[in-house]
Amino acid sequence: MRRDFVANVSHELRTPLTVLVGFLETVRELKLDPQRVRDYIGMMREQGARMQRIIEDLLALSVLESAPPPAAERVRVAPLLERLGADATALSKGRHAISIEGRPQVDLLGAEPEIASAFGNLISNAIRYTPAGGKVTVAWHDGPDGASFSVADTGVGIPVEHIPRLTERFYRVDRGRSRESGGTGLGLAIAKHVLGRHQAHLEVDSTPGAGSRFSAHFPAGRTIPLEAATESQAG
Ligand code: ADP
Repeated sequence: MRRDFVANVSHELRTPLTVLVGFLETVRELKLDPQRVRDYIGMMREQGARMQRIIEDLLALSVLESAPPPAAERVRVAPLLERLGADATALSKGRHAISIEGRPQVDLLGAEPEIASAFGNLISNAIRYTPAGGKVTVAWHDGPDGASFSVADTGVGIPVEHIPRLTERFYRVDRGRSRESGGTGLGLAIAKHVLGRHQAHLEVDSTPGAGSRFSAHFPAGRTIPLEAATESQAG
């Protein structure tokens, strides 16, 4: 597995690096007008940014793998949902109808940055795999049995045979689409890891051509009632 992983990482980084070096050669060899040079530099920057995203996600994964179990600190759900909604709106740039549903009666116990990154990855996927004009619905539910965070979209959907493999590192249903949308192929691997560290699990339902729903389920032991102050502020 480790050998495969090293081969995959090398391949993932080699592709943008090859493109980048190609562009550098072009700019060096050809006499281009300044506008063309700027275009090439823009494309080079995009390849560099792609390598950066891959390395950041790899580092995030390796930190998760070696980190001690997450703290059981209060993660305030309502403001987190609000922030995630704002991030989603920024990422969508007006192309999707985004809604946030549910009124949290509990908070989570865990590591806020980890949970924010797992939820954020699910939302950014919904936006990236949903064509303009589609809907992305983020919903929160809680009850005596625990809590769930879900993201439903009306996007491209996923053929059922791929679903069990989505959380593998660098596994993608459609490599071209993932790359065009700025994907690293690591977002769901990170989300799965974070959820596992919080005794939560990920559920995926999808219909090709109609949309997908990714839900994270937390056991009751990872929830904590709202603080009185928070409750009266919210209500
Ligand atoms: P990527 O960076 O490629 O999006 P992820 O690990 O986040 O990597 O997701 C793995 C693959 O799962 C994606 O490449 C895509 O094929 C599929 N996928 C994830 N979320 C969705 C979604 N909401 N709709 C359709 N396909 C999805």
